[in-house]
Amino acid sequence: MSTRKTPAPRKAPARPRRIPPGASRPPASAYPFEGVPETGAAREILPGVLWMRMPLPFVLNHINVYALEDGDGWTIVDTGARTGITATAWQELLSGPLGGRPVRRVLVTHMHPDHIGMAGWLTRKFDCRLWITRLEYLLCRMLVADTGREAPEDGVVFYRRAGWSESALEQYRARFGGFGKGIYNLPDSYRRIRDGETIRIGAHDWKVVVGHGHSPEHACLHCDELKLLVSGDQVLPRITSNVSVFPTEPDADPLGDWLESLERVERLVPDDVLVLPSHNEPFTGLHSRLRALANGHRIGLERLRRSLATPRRAIDVFGALFARKVGDDENLLNMATGESLAHLNYLVARGEARVVVDAAGVAWYQSN
Ligand SMILES: [Zn+2]
Repeated sequence: MSTRKTPAPRKAPARPRRIPPGASRPPASAYPFEGVPETGAAREILPGVLWMRMPLPFVLNHINVYALEDGDGWTIVDTGARTGITATAWQELLSGPLGGRPVRRVLVTHMHPDHIGMAGWLTRKFDCRLWITRLEYLLCRMLVADTGREAPEDGVVFYRRAGWSESALEQYRARFGGFGKGIYNLPDSYRRIRDGETIRIGAHDWKVVVGHGHSPEHACLHCDELKLLVSGDQVLPRITSNVSVFPTEPDADPLGDWLESLERVERLVPDDVLVLPSHNEPFTGLHSRLRALANGHRIGLERLRRSLATPRRAIDVFGALFARKVGDDENLLNMATGESLAHLNYLVARGEARVVVDAAGVAWYQSN
């Protein structure tokens, strides 16, 4: 996201982005709650389902977290980033709205620091298990292990190939390795959750619905009985989630994965749910939002196809994809590059574009 303090380009950025153009919003009437919970306070969505909000030190200044009544305690879904303010907020919540009852498990939708940052803190405090998909757990362990390392040559090659200047590459080198700073030490063991699994939480069954593209194995939780979908970053009502290619997997097709996942969620989850997202506010109108998100990417792809009539580098196609000017900010440049490559790789993977790498190691894309 655009304002991360310590960006680590090998990680998947936590921050959803507000473009591509064309993604429409649900009407205002699709938000049944007025206002948002204050830090340290909770809002009851339904009996036994609480909505809470943690501040984030970024332009996107909050993340929603949820508590689901679980017998005499709680299952917590997502945790906030590792900051002193978040720890204080959790202390207030635990002794206040959560009634001093224990956390029985911590379930995390995906491994971005705003979601998983406090998971280790909570699981140690309550001696309970972290529940998460396997790829999210493993990738998080891997990225945390990069903390403090020098930037890898593969990363430099990757961004040079995208057209970055020497000074941008220098910023990448200088800022590499910050991912783990937003995360308390992860537990060394976890409970794997998987797509299609039903998890009993208190009096209700929740089904795991996995999506790909924003992160490798992102879990949503659907309760048919309560007509609720805890959507994580898979579906957000007023911003779009970042879908990026990263240096560890330069040929990945995350946009293909993402578009497939949007269709899959529509197939598996009925339209009549109240969606509890990680950012913005709870909303209805799931299916129309899923289609609007996909449509936004399709419009971007169409503009991109037109702009590739002549050869272009990844950094030359920002104007076709993003409403906002990218400029020199390394973090924004990093996000925009990853997302442009997601769109370019999508076209290349489908034989719609070709790529030629010049003598300087820079990749030029052109429509077929
Ligand atoms: Zn995320």
